[in-house]
Amino acid sequence: MAIGVHPRKLPGRGNREPGNRKDLVMKRQSKGLAVITGASSGIGAVYADRLARRGYDLLLVARNQLLMADLAKKIVSDTGSEVDILAADLTNSNDVAKLEQILREDSRVTLLVNNAGVGATAPLLNSDLADMRRMIALNVEALTRLTYAAVPAFVKRGAGTIINIASIVAIAPERLNGVYGGTKAFVLAFSQSLRNELGNTGVKVQVVLPGATATDFWRLSGKPVEQLPQEIVMTAEDMVDAALAGFDAGEFVTIPALPDAEQWQSYEAARQALMPNLSRAEPAGRYGVVHAAR
Ligand code: NAP
Repeated sequence: MAIGVHPRKLPGRGNREPGNRKDLVMKRQSKGLAVITGASSGIGAVYADRLARRGYDLLLVARNQLLMADLAKKIVSDTGSEVDILAADLTNSNDVAKLEQILREDSRVTLLVNNAGVGATAPLLNSDLADMRRMIALNVEALTRLTYAAVPAFVKRGAGTIINIASIVAIAPERLNGVYGGTKAFVLAFSQSLRNELGNTGVKVQVVLPGATATDFWRLSGKPVEQLPQEIVMTAEDMVDAALAGFDAGEFVTIPALPDAEQWQSYEAARQALMPNLSRAEPAGRYGVVHAAR
């Protein structure tokens, strides 16, 4: 069950001055409930702060309950948002099922940020297969299940937003561990398909491709962020602020570090240009196959 840290439950609230947080809470119009996975640290924790400041109540999801409780208290105090916590290991099917149920049944949910993820820096052939399977379970399977749980309710209501956190390795898998790149390529492809299918439903989809971001991700992946060339590392705050600015501007794919947006547009245009030619009855002439008529 989710644990709540709500403004009315904060100790000492009754002693505040007039024009204080109580008024803030009473005047505040919630934009609904934002569910953020991987909200105990890094990028997810910054999303939690920023979305609360934008008027969302929050459900924070991760394994580390203590970190989330501290963050929740701070956010409640800073913003007056209601913040719930769900301690869940999203590589565990039963834990994912608990969150699926909330996403299916709680009509306050208006936004899902699929952020929880792990990476690896070791080359594919030096990696432990069990670790790779856990990575796929979190980065791919949990994200897929949670999206499947949320979207039908959003479609029914004609509103709702999915923000999927992919990575630049979705299009540059040579940069890090190949399974990690593969999981993020999945997130990008899944988001592209989702956006295509949900075109006229009122449901918004954004996929974010961060470059190197200064979080614990790097230490946990086997290479502390201090060991990276600092000119390629962005703070989590800047990354999330840019991603939300991209969302506000109606972007579907947001690459916070990319200086020239036209580079992505050309890449996408080249992909679209391939589409009509990718599936045909005859092998391409360069293969020299004599086409046998059916
Ligand atoms: P982070 O600080 O390590 O945060 C990862 C979050 O995921 C934590 O809240 C962690 O919380 C949660 N998490 C990990 N395993 C989990 C599990 N089994 N069940 C539930 N939650 C779990 O790293 P981050 O950089 O913020 O990563 C967030 C997302 O950004 C990831 O999807 C990552 O792939 C992506 N990304 C990061 C970078 C980067 O350079 N940092 C670049 C591109 C993309 P608990 O440990 O409490 O469970």
